[in-house]
Amino acid sequence: MKPKIAIFSLTGCEGCSLAILELENELLDILEAVEIVNFREGMTEKSWDIDIGFVDGAVSTPTDAEEVKHMREHSKVLVAIGSCACLGGINTLKNHQDPAEYRKYVYGERAEWFDNIDAQPISNFVKVDYDLPGCPMVKEEFLQFVKLTLAGRPFRLPQTAVCVECKKRGNLCLYEQGIICLGPVTRAGCDAICPSYGSKCEGCRGLVGEEQLKAAGVNLREQYDVKLDDVLADFRMFGAYQGKDLP
Ligand code: SF4
Ligand code: SF4
Ligand code: SF4
Repeated sequence: MKPKIAIFSLTGCEGCSLAILELENELLDILEAVEIVNFREGMTEKSWDIDIGFVDGAVSTPTDAEEVKHMREHSKVLVAIGSCACLGGINTLKNHQDPAEYRKYVYGERAEWFDNIDAQPISNFVKVDYDLPGCPMVKEEFLQFVKLTLAGRPFRLPQTAVCVECKKRGNLCLYEQGIICLGPVTRAGCDAICPSYGSKCEGCRGLVGEEQLKAAGVNLREQYDVKLDDVLADFRMFGAYQGKDLP
């Protein structure tokens, strides 16, 4: 019997779910091997008998918190897809603002109608088996995850920083131009797409492991006279670092 797959969305732009639909040819191969039983972006039928549940979007309302618990209860394996689900994502920018003000800005006079909590990763509410970070998630990584899982093999995120991929692509480092880039402290896997197009890495794939973070701190100080704290202070866009738990 084919494994049953569900794709859910909480608070976010649903770009990570769309990224699955954009797989086109590869999606046809996946559909040969799995049965999609619950996917708001792509179908109307719904089943709650789920082997692998993918969730995009952060928990940002009490309703999200209830929904993600329901998803967990009905999924044998639960996978967070995208920065919103893995880290809280761009939604966490609201956590640094006055709730009364932004609620009035968004909902106007009806602000009281809508419950609201700080935006958070889904792992704050349920056990998550795997993270596939990125804004949006990296399609190739999703494919790799599906292939490995269907073959019964383990999946592991890259343990290196974006700089490794950036250097492989032969890019001139943005630090040489005086730009603070988050590549040294961000988990690889996106093929350094932003610096390859001249933009600094904003950390959408989250912090790299503790060891690599320490090494980055030494390199940044020695090579560019930049403090790790100053780099991490720039790390708020996707909620990966909230100013605590520094190694
Ligand atoms: S991670 Fe980015 S693309 Fe994915 S749902 Fe969140 S905002 Fe959208
Ligand atoms: S700091 Fe940024 S630009 Fe420099 S190598 Fe790392 S990812 Fe590339
Ligand atoms: S370079 Fe940084 S911000 Fe850009 S996709 Fe990769 S991890 Fe995300």
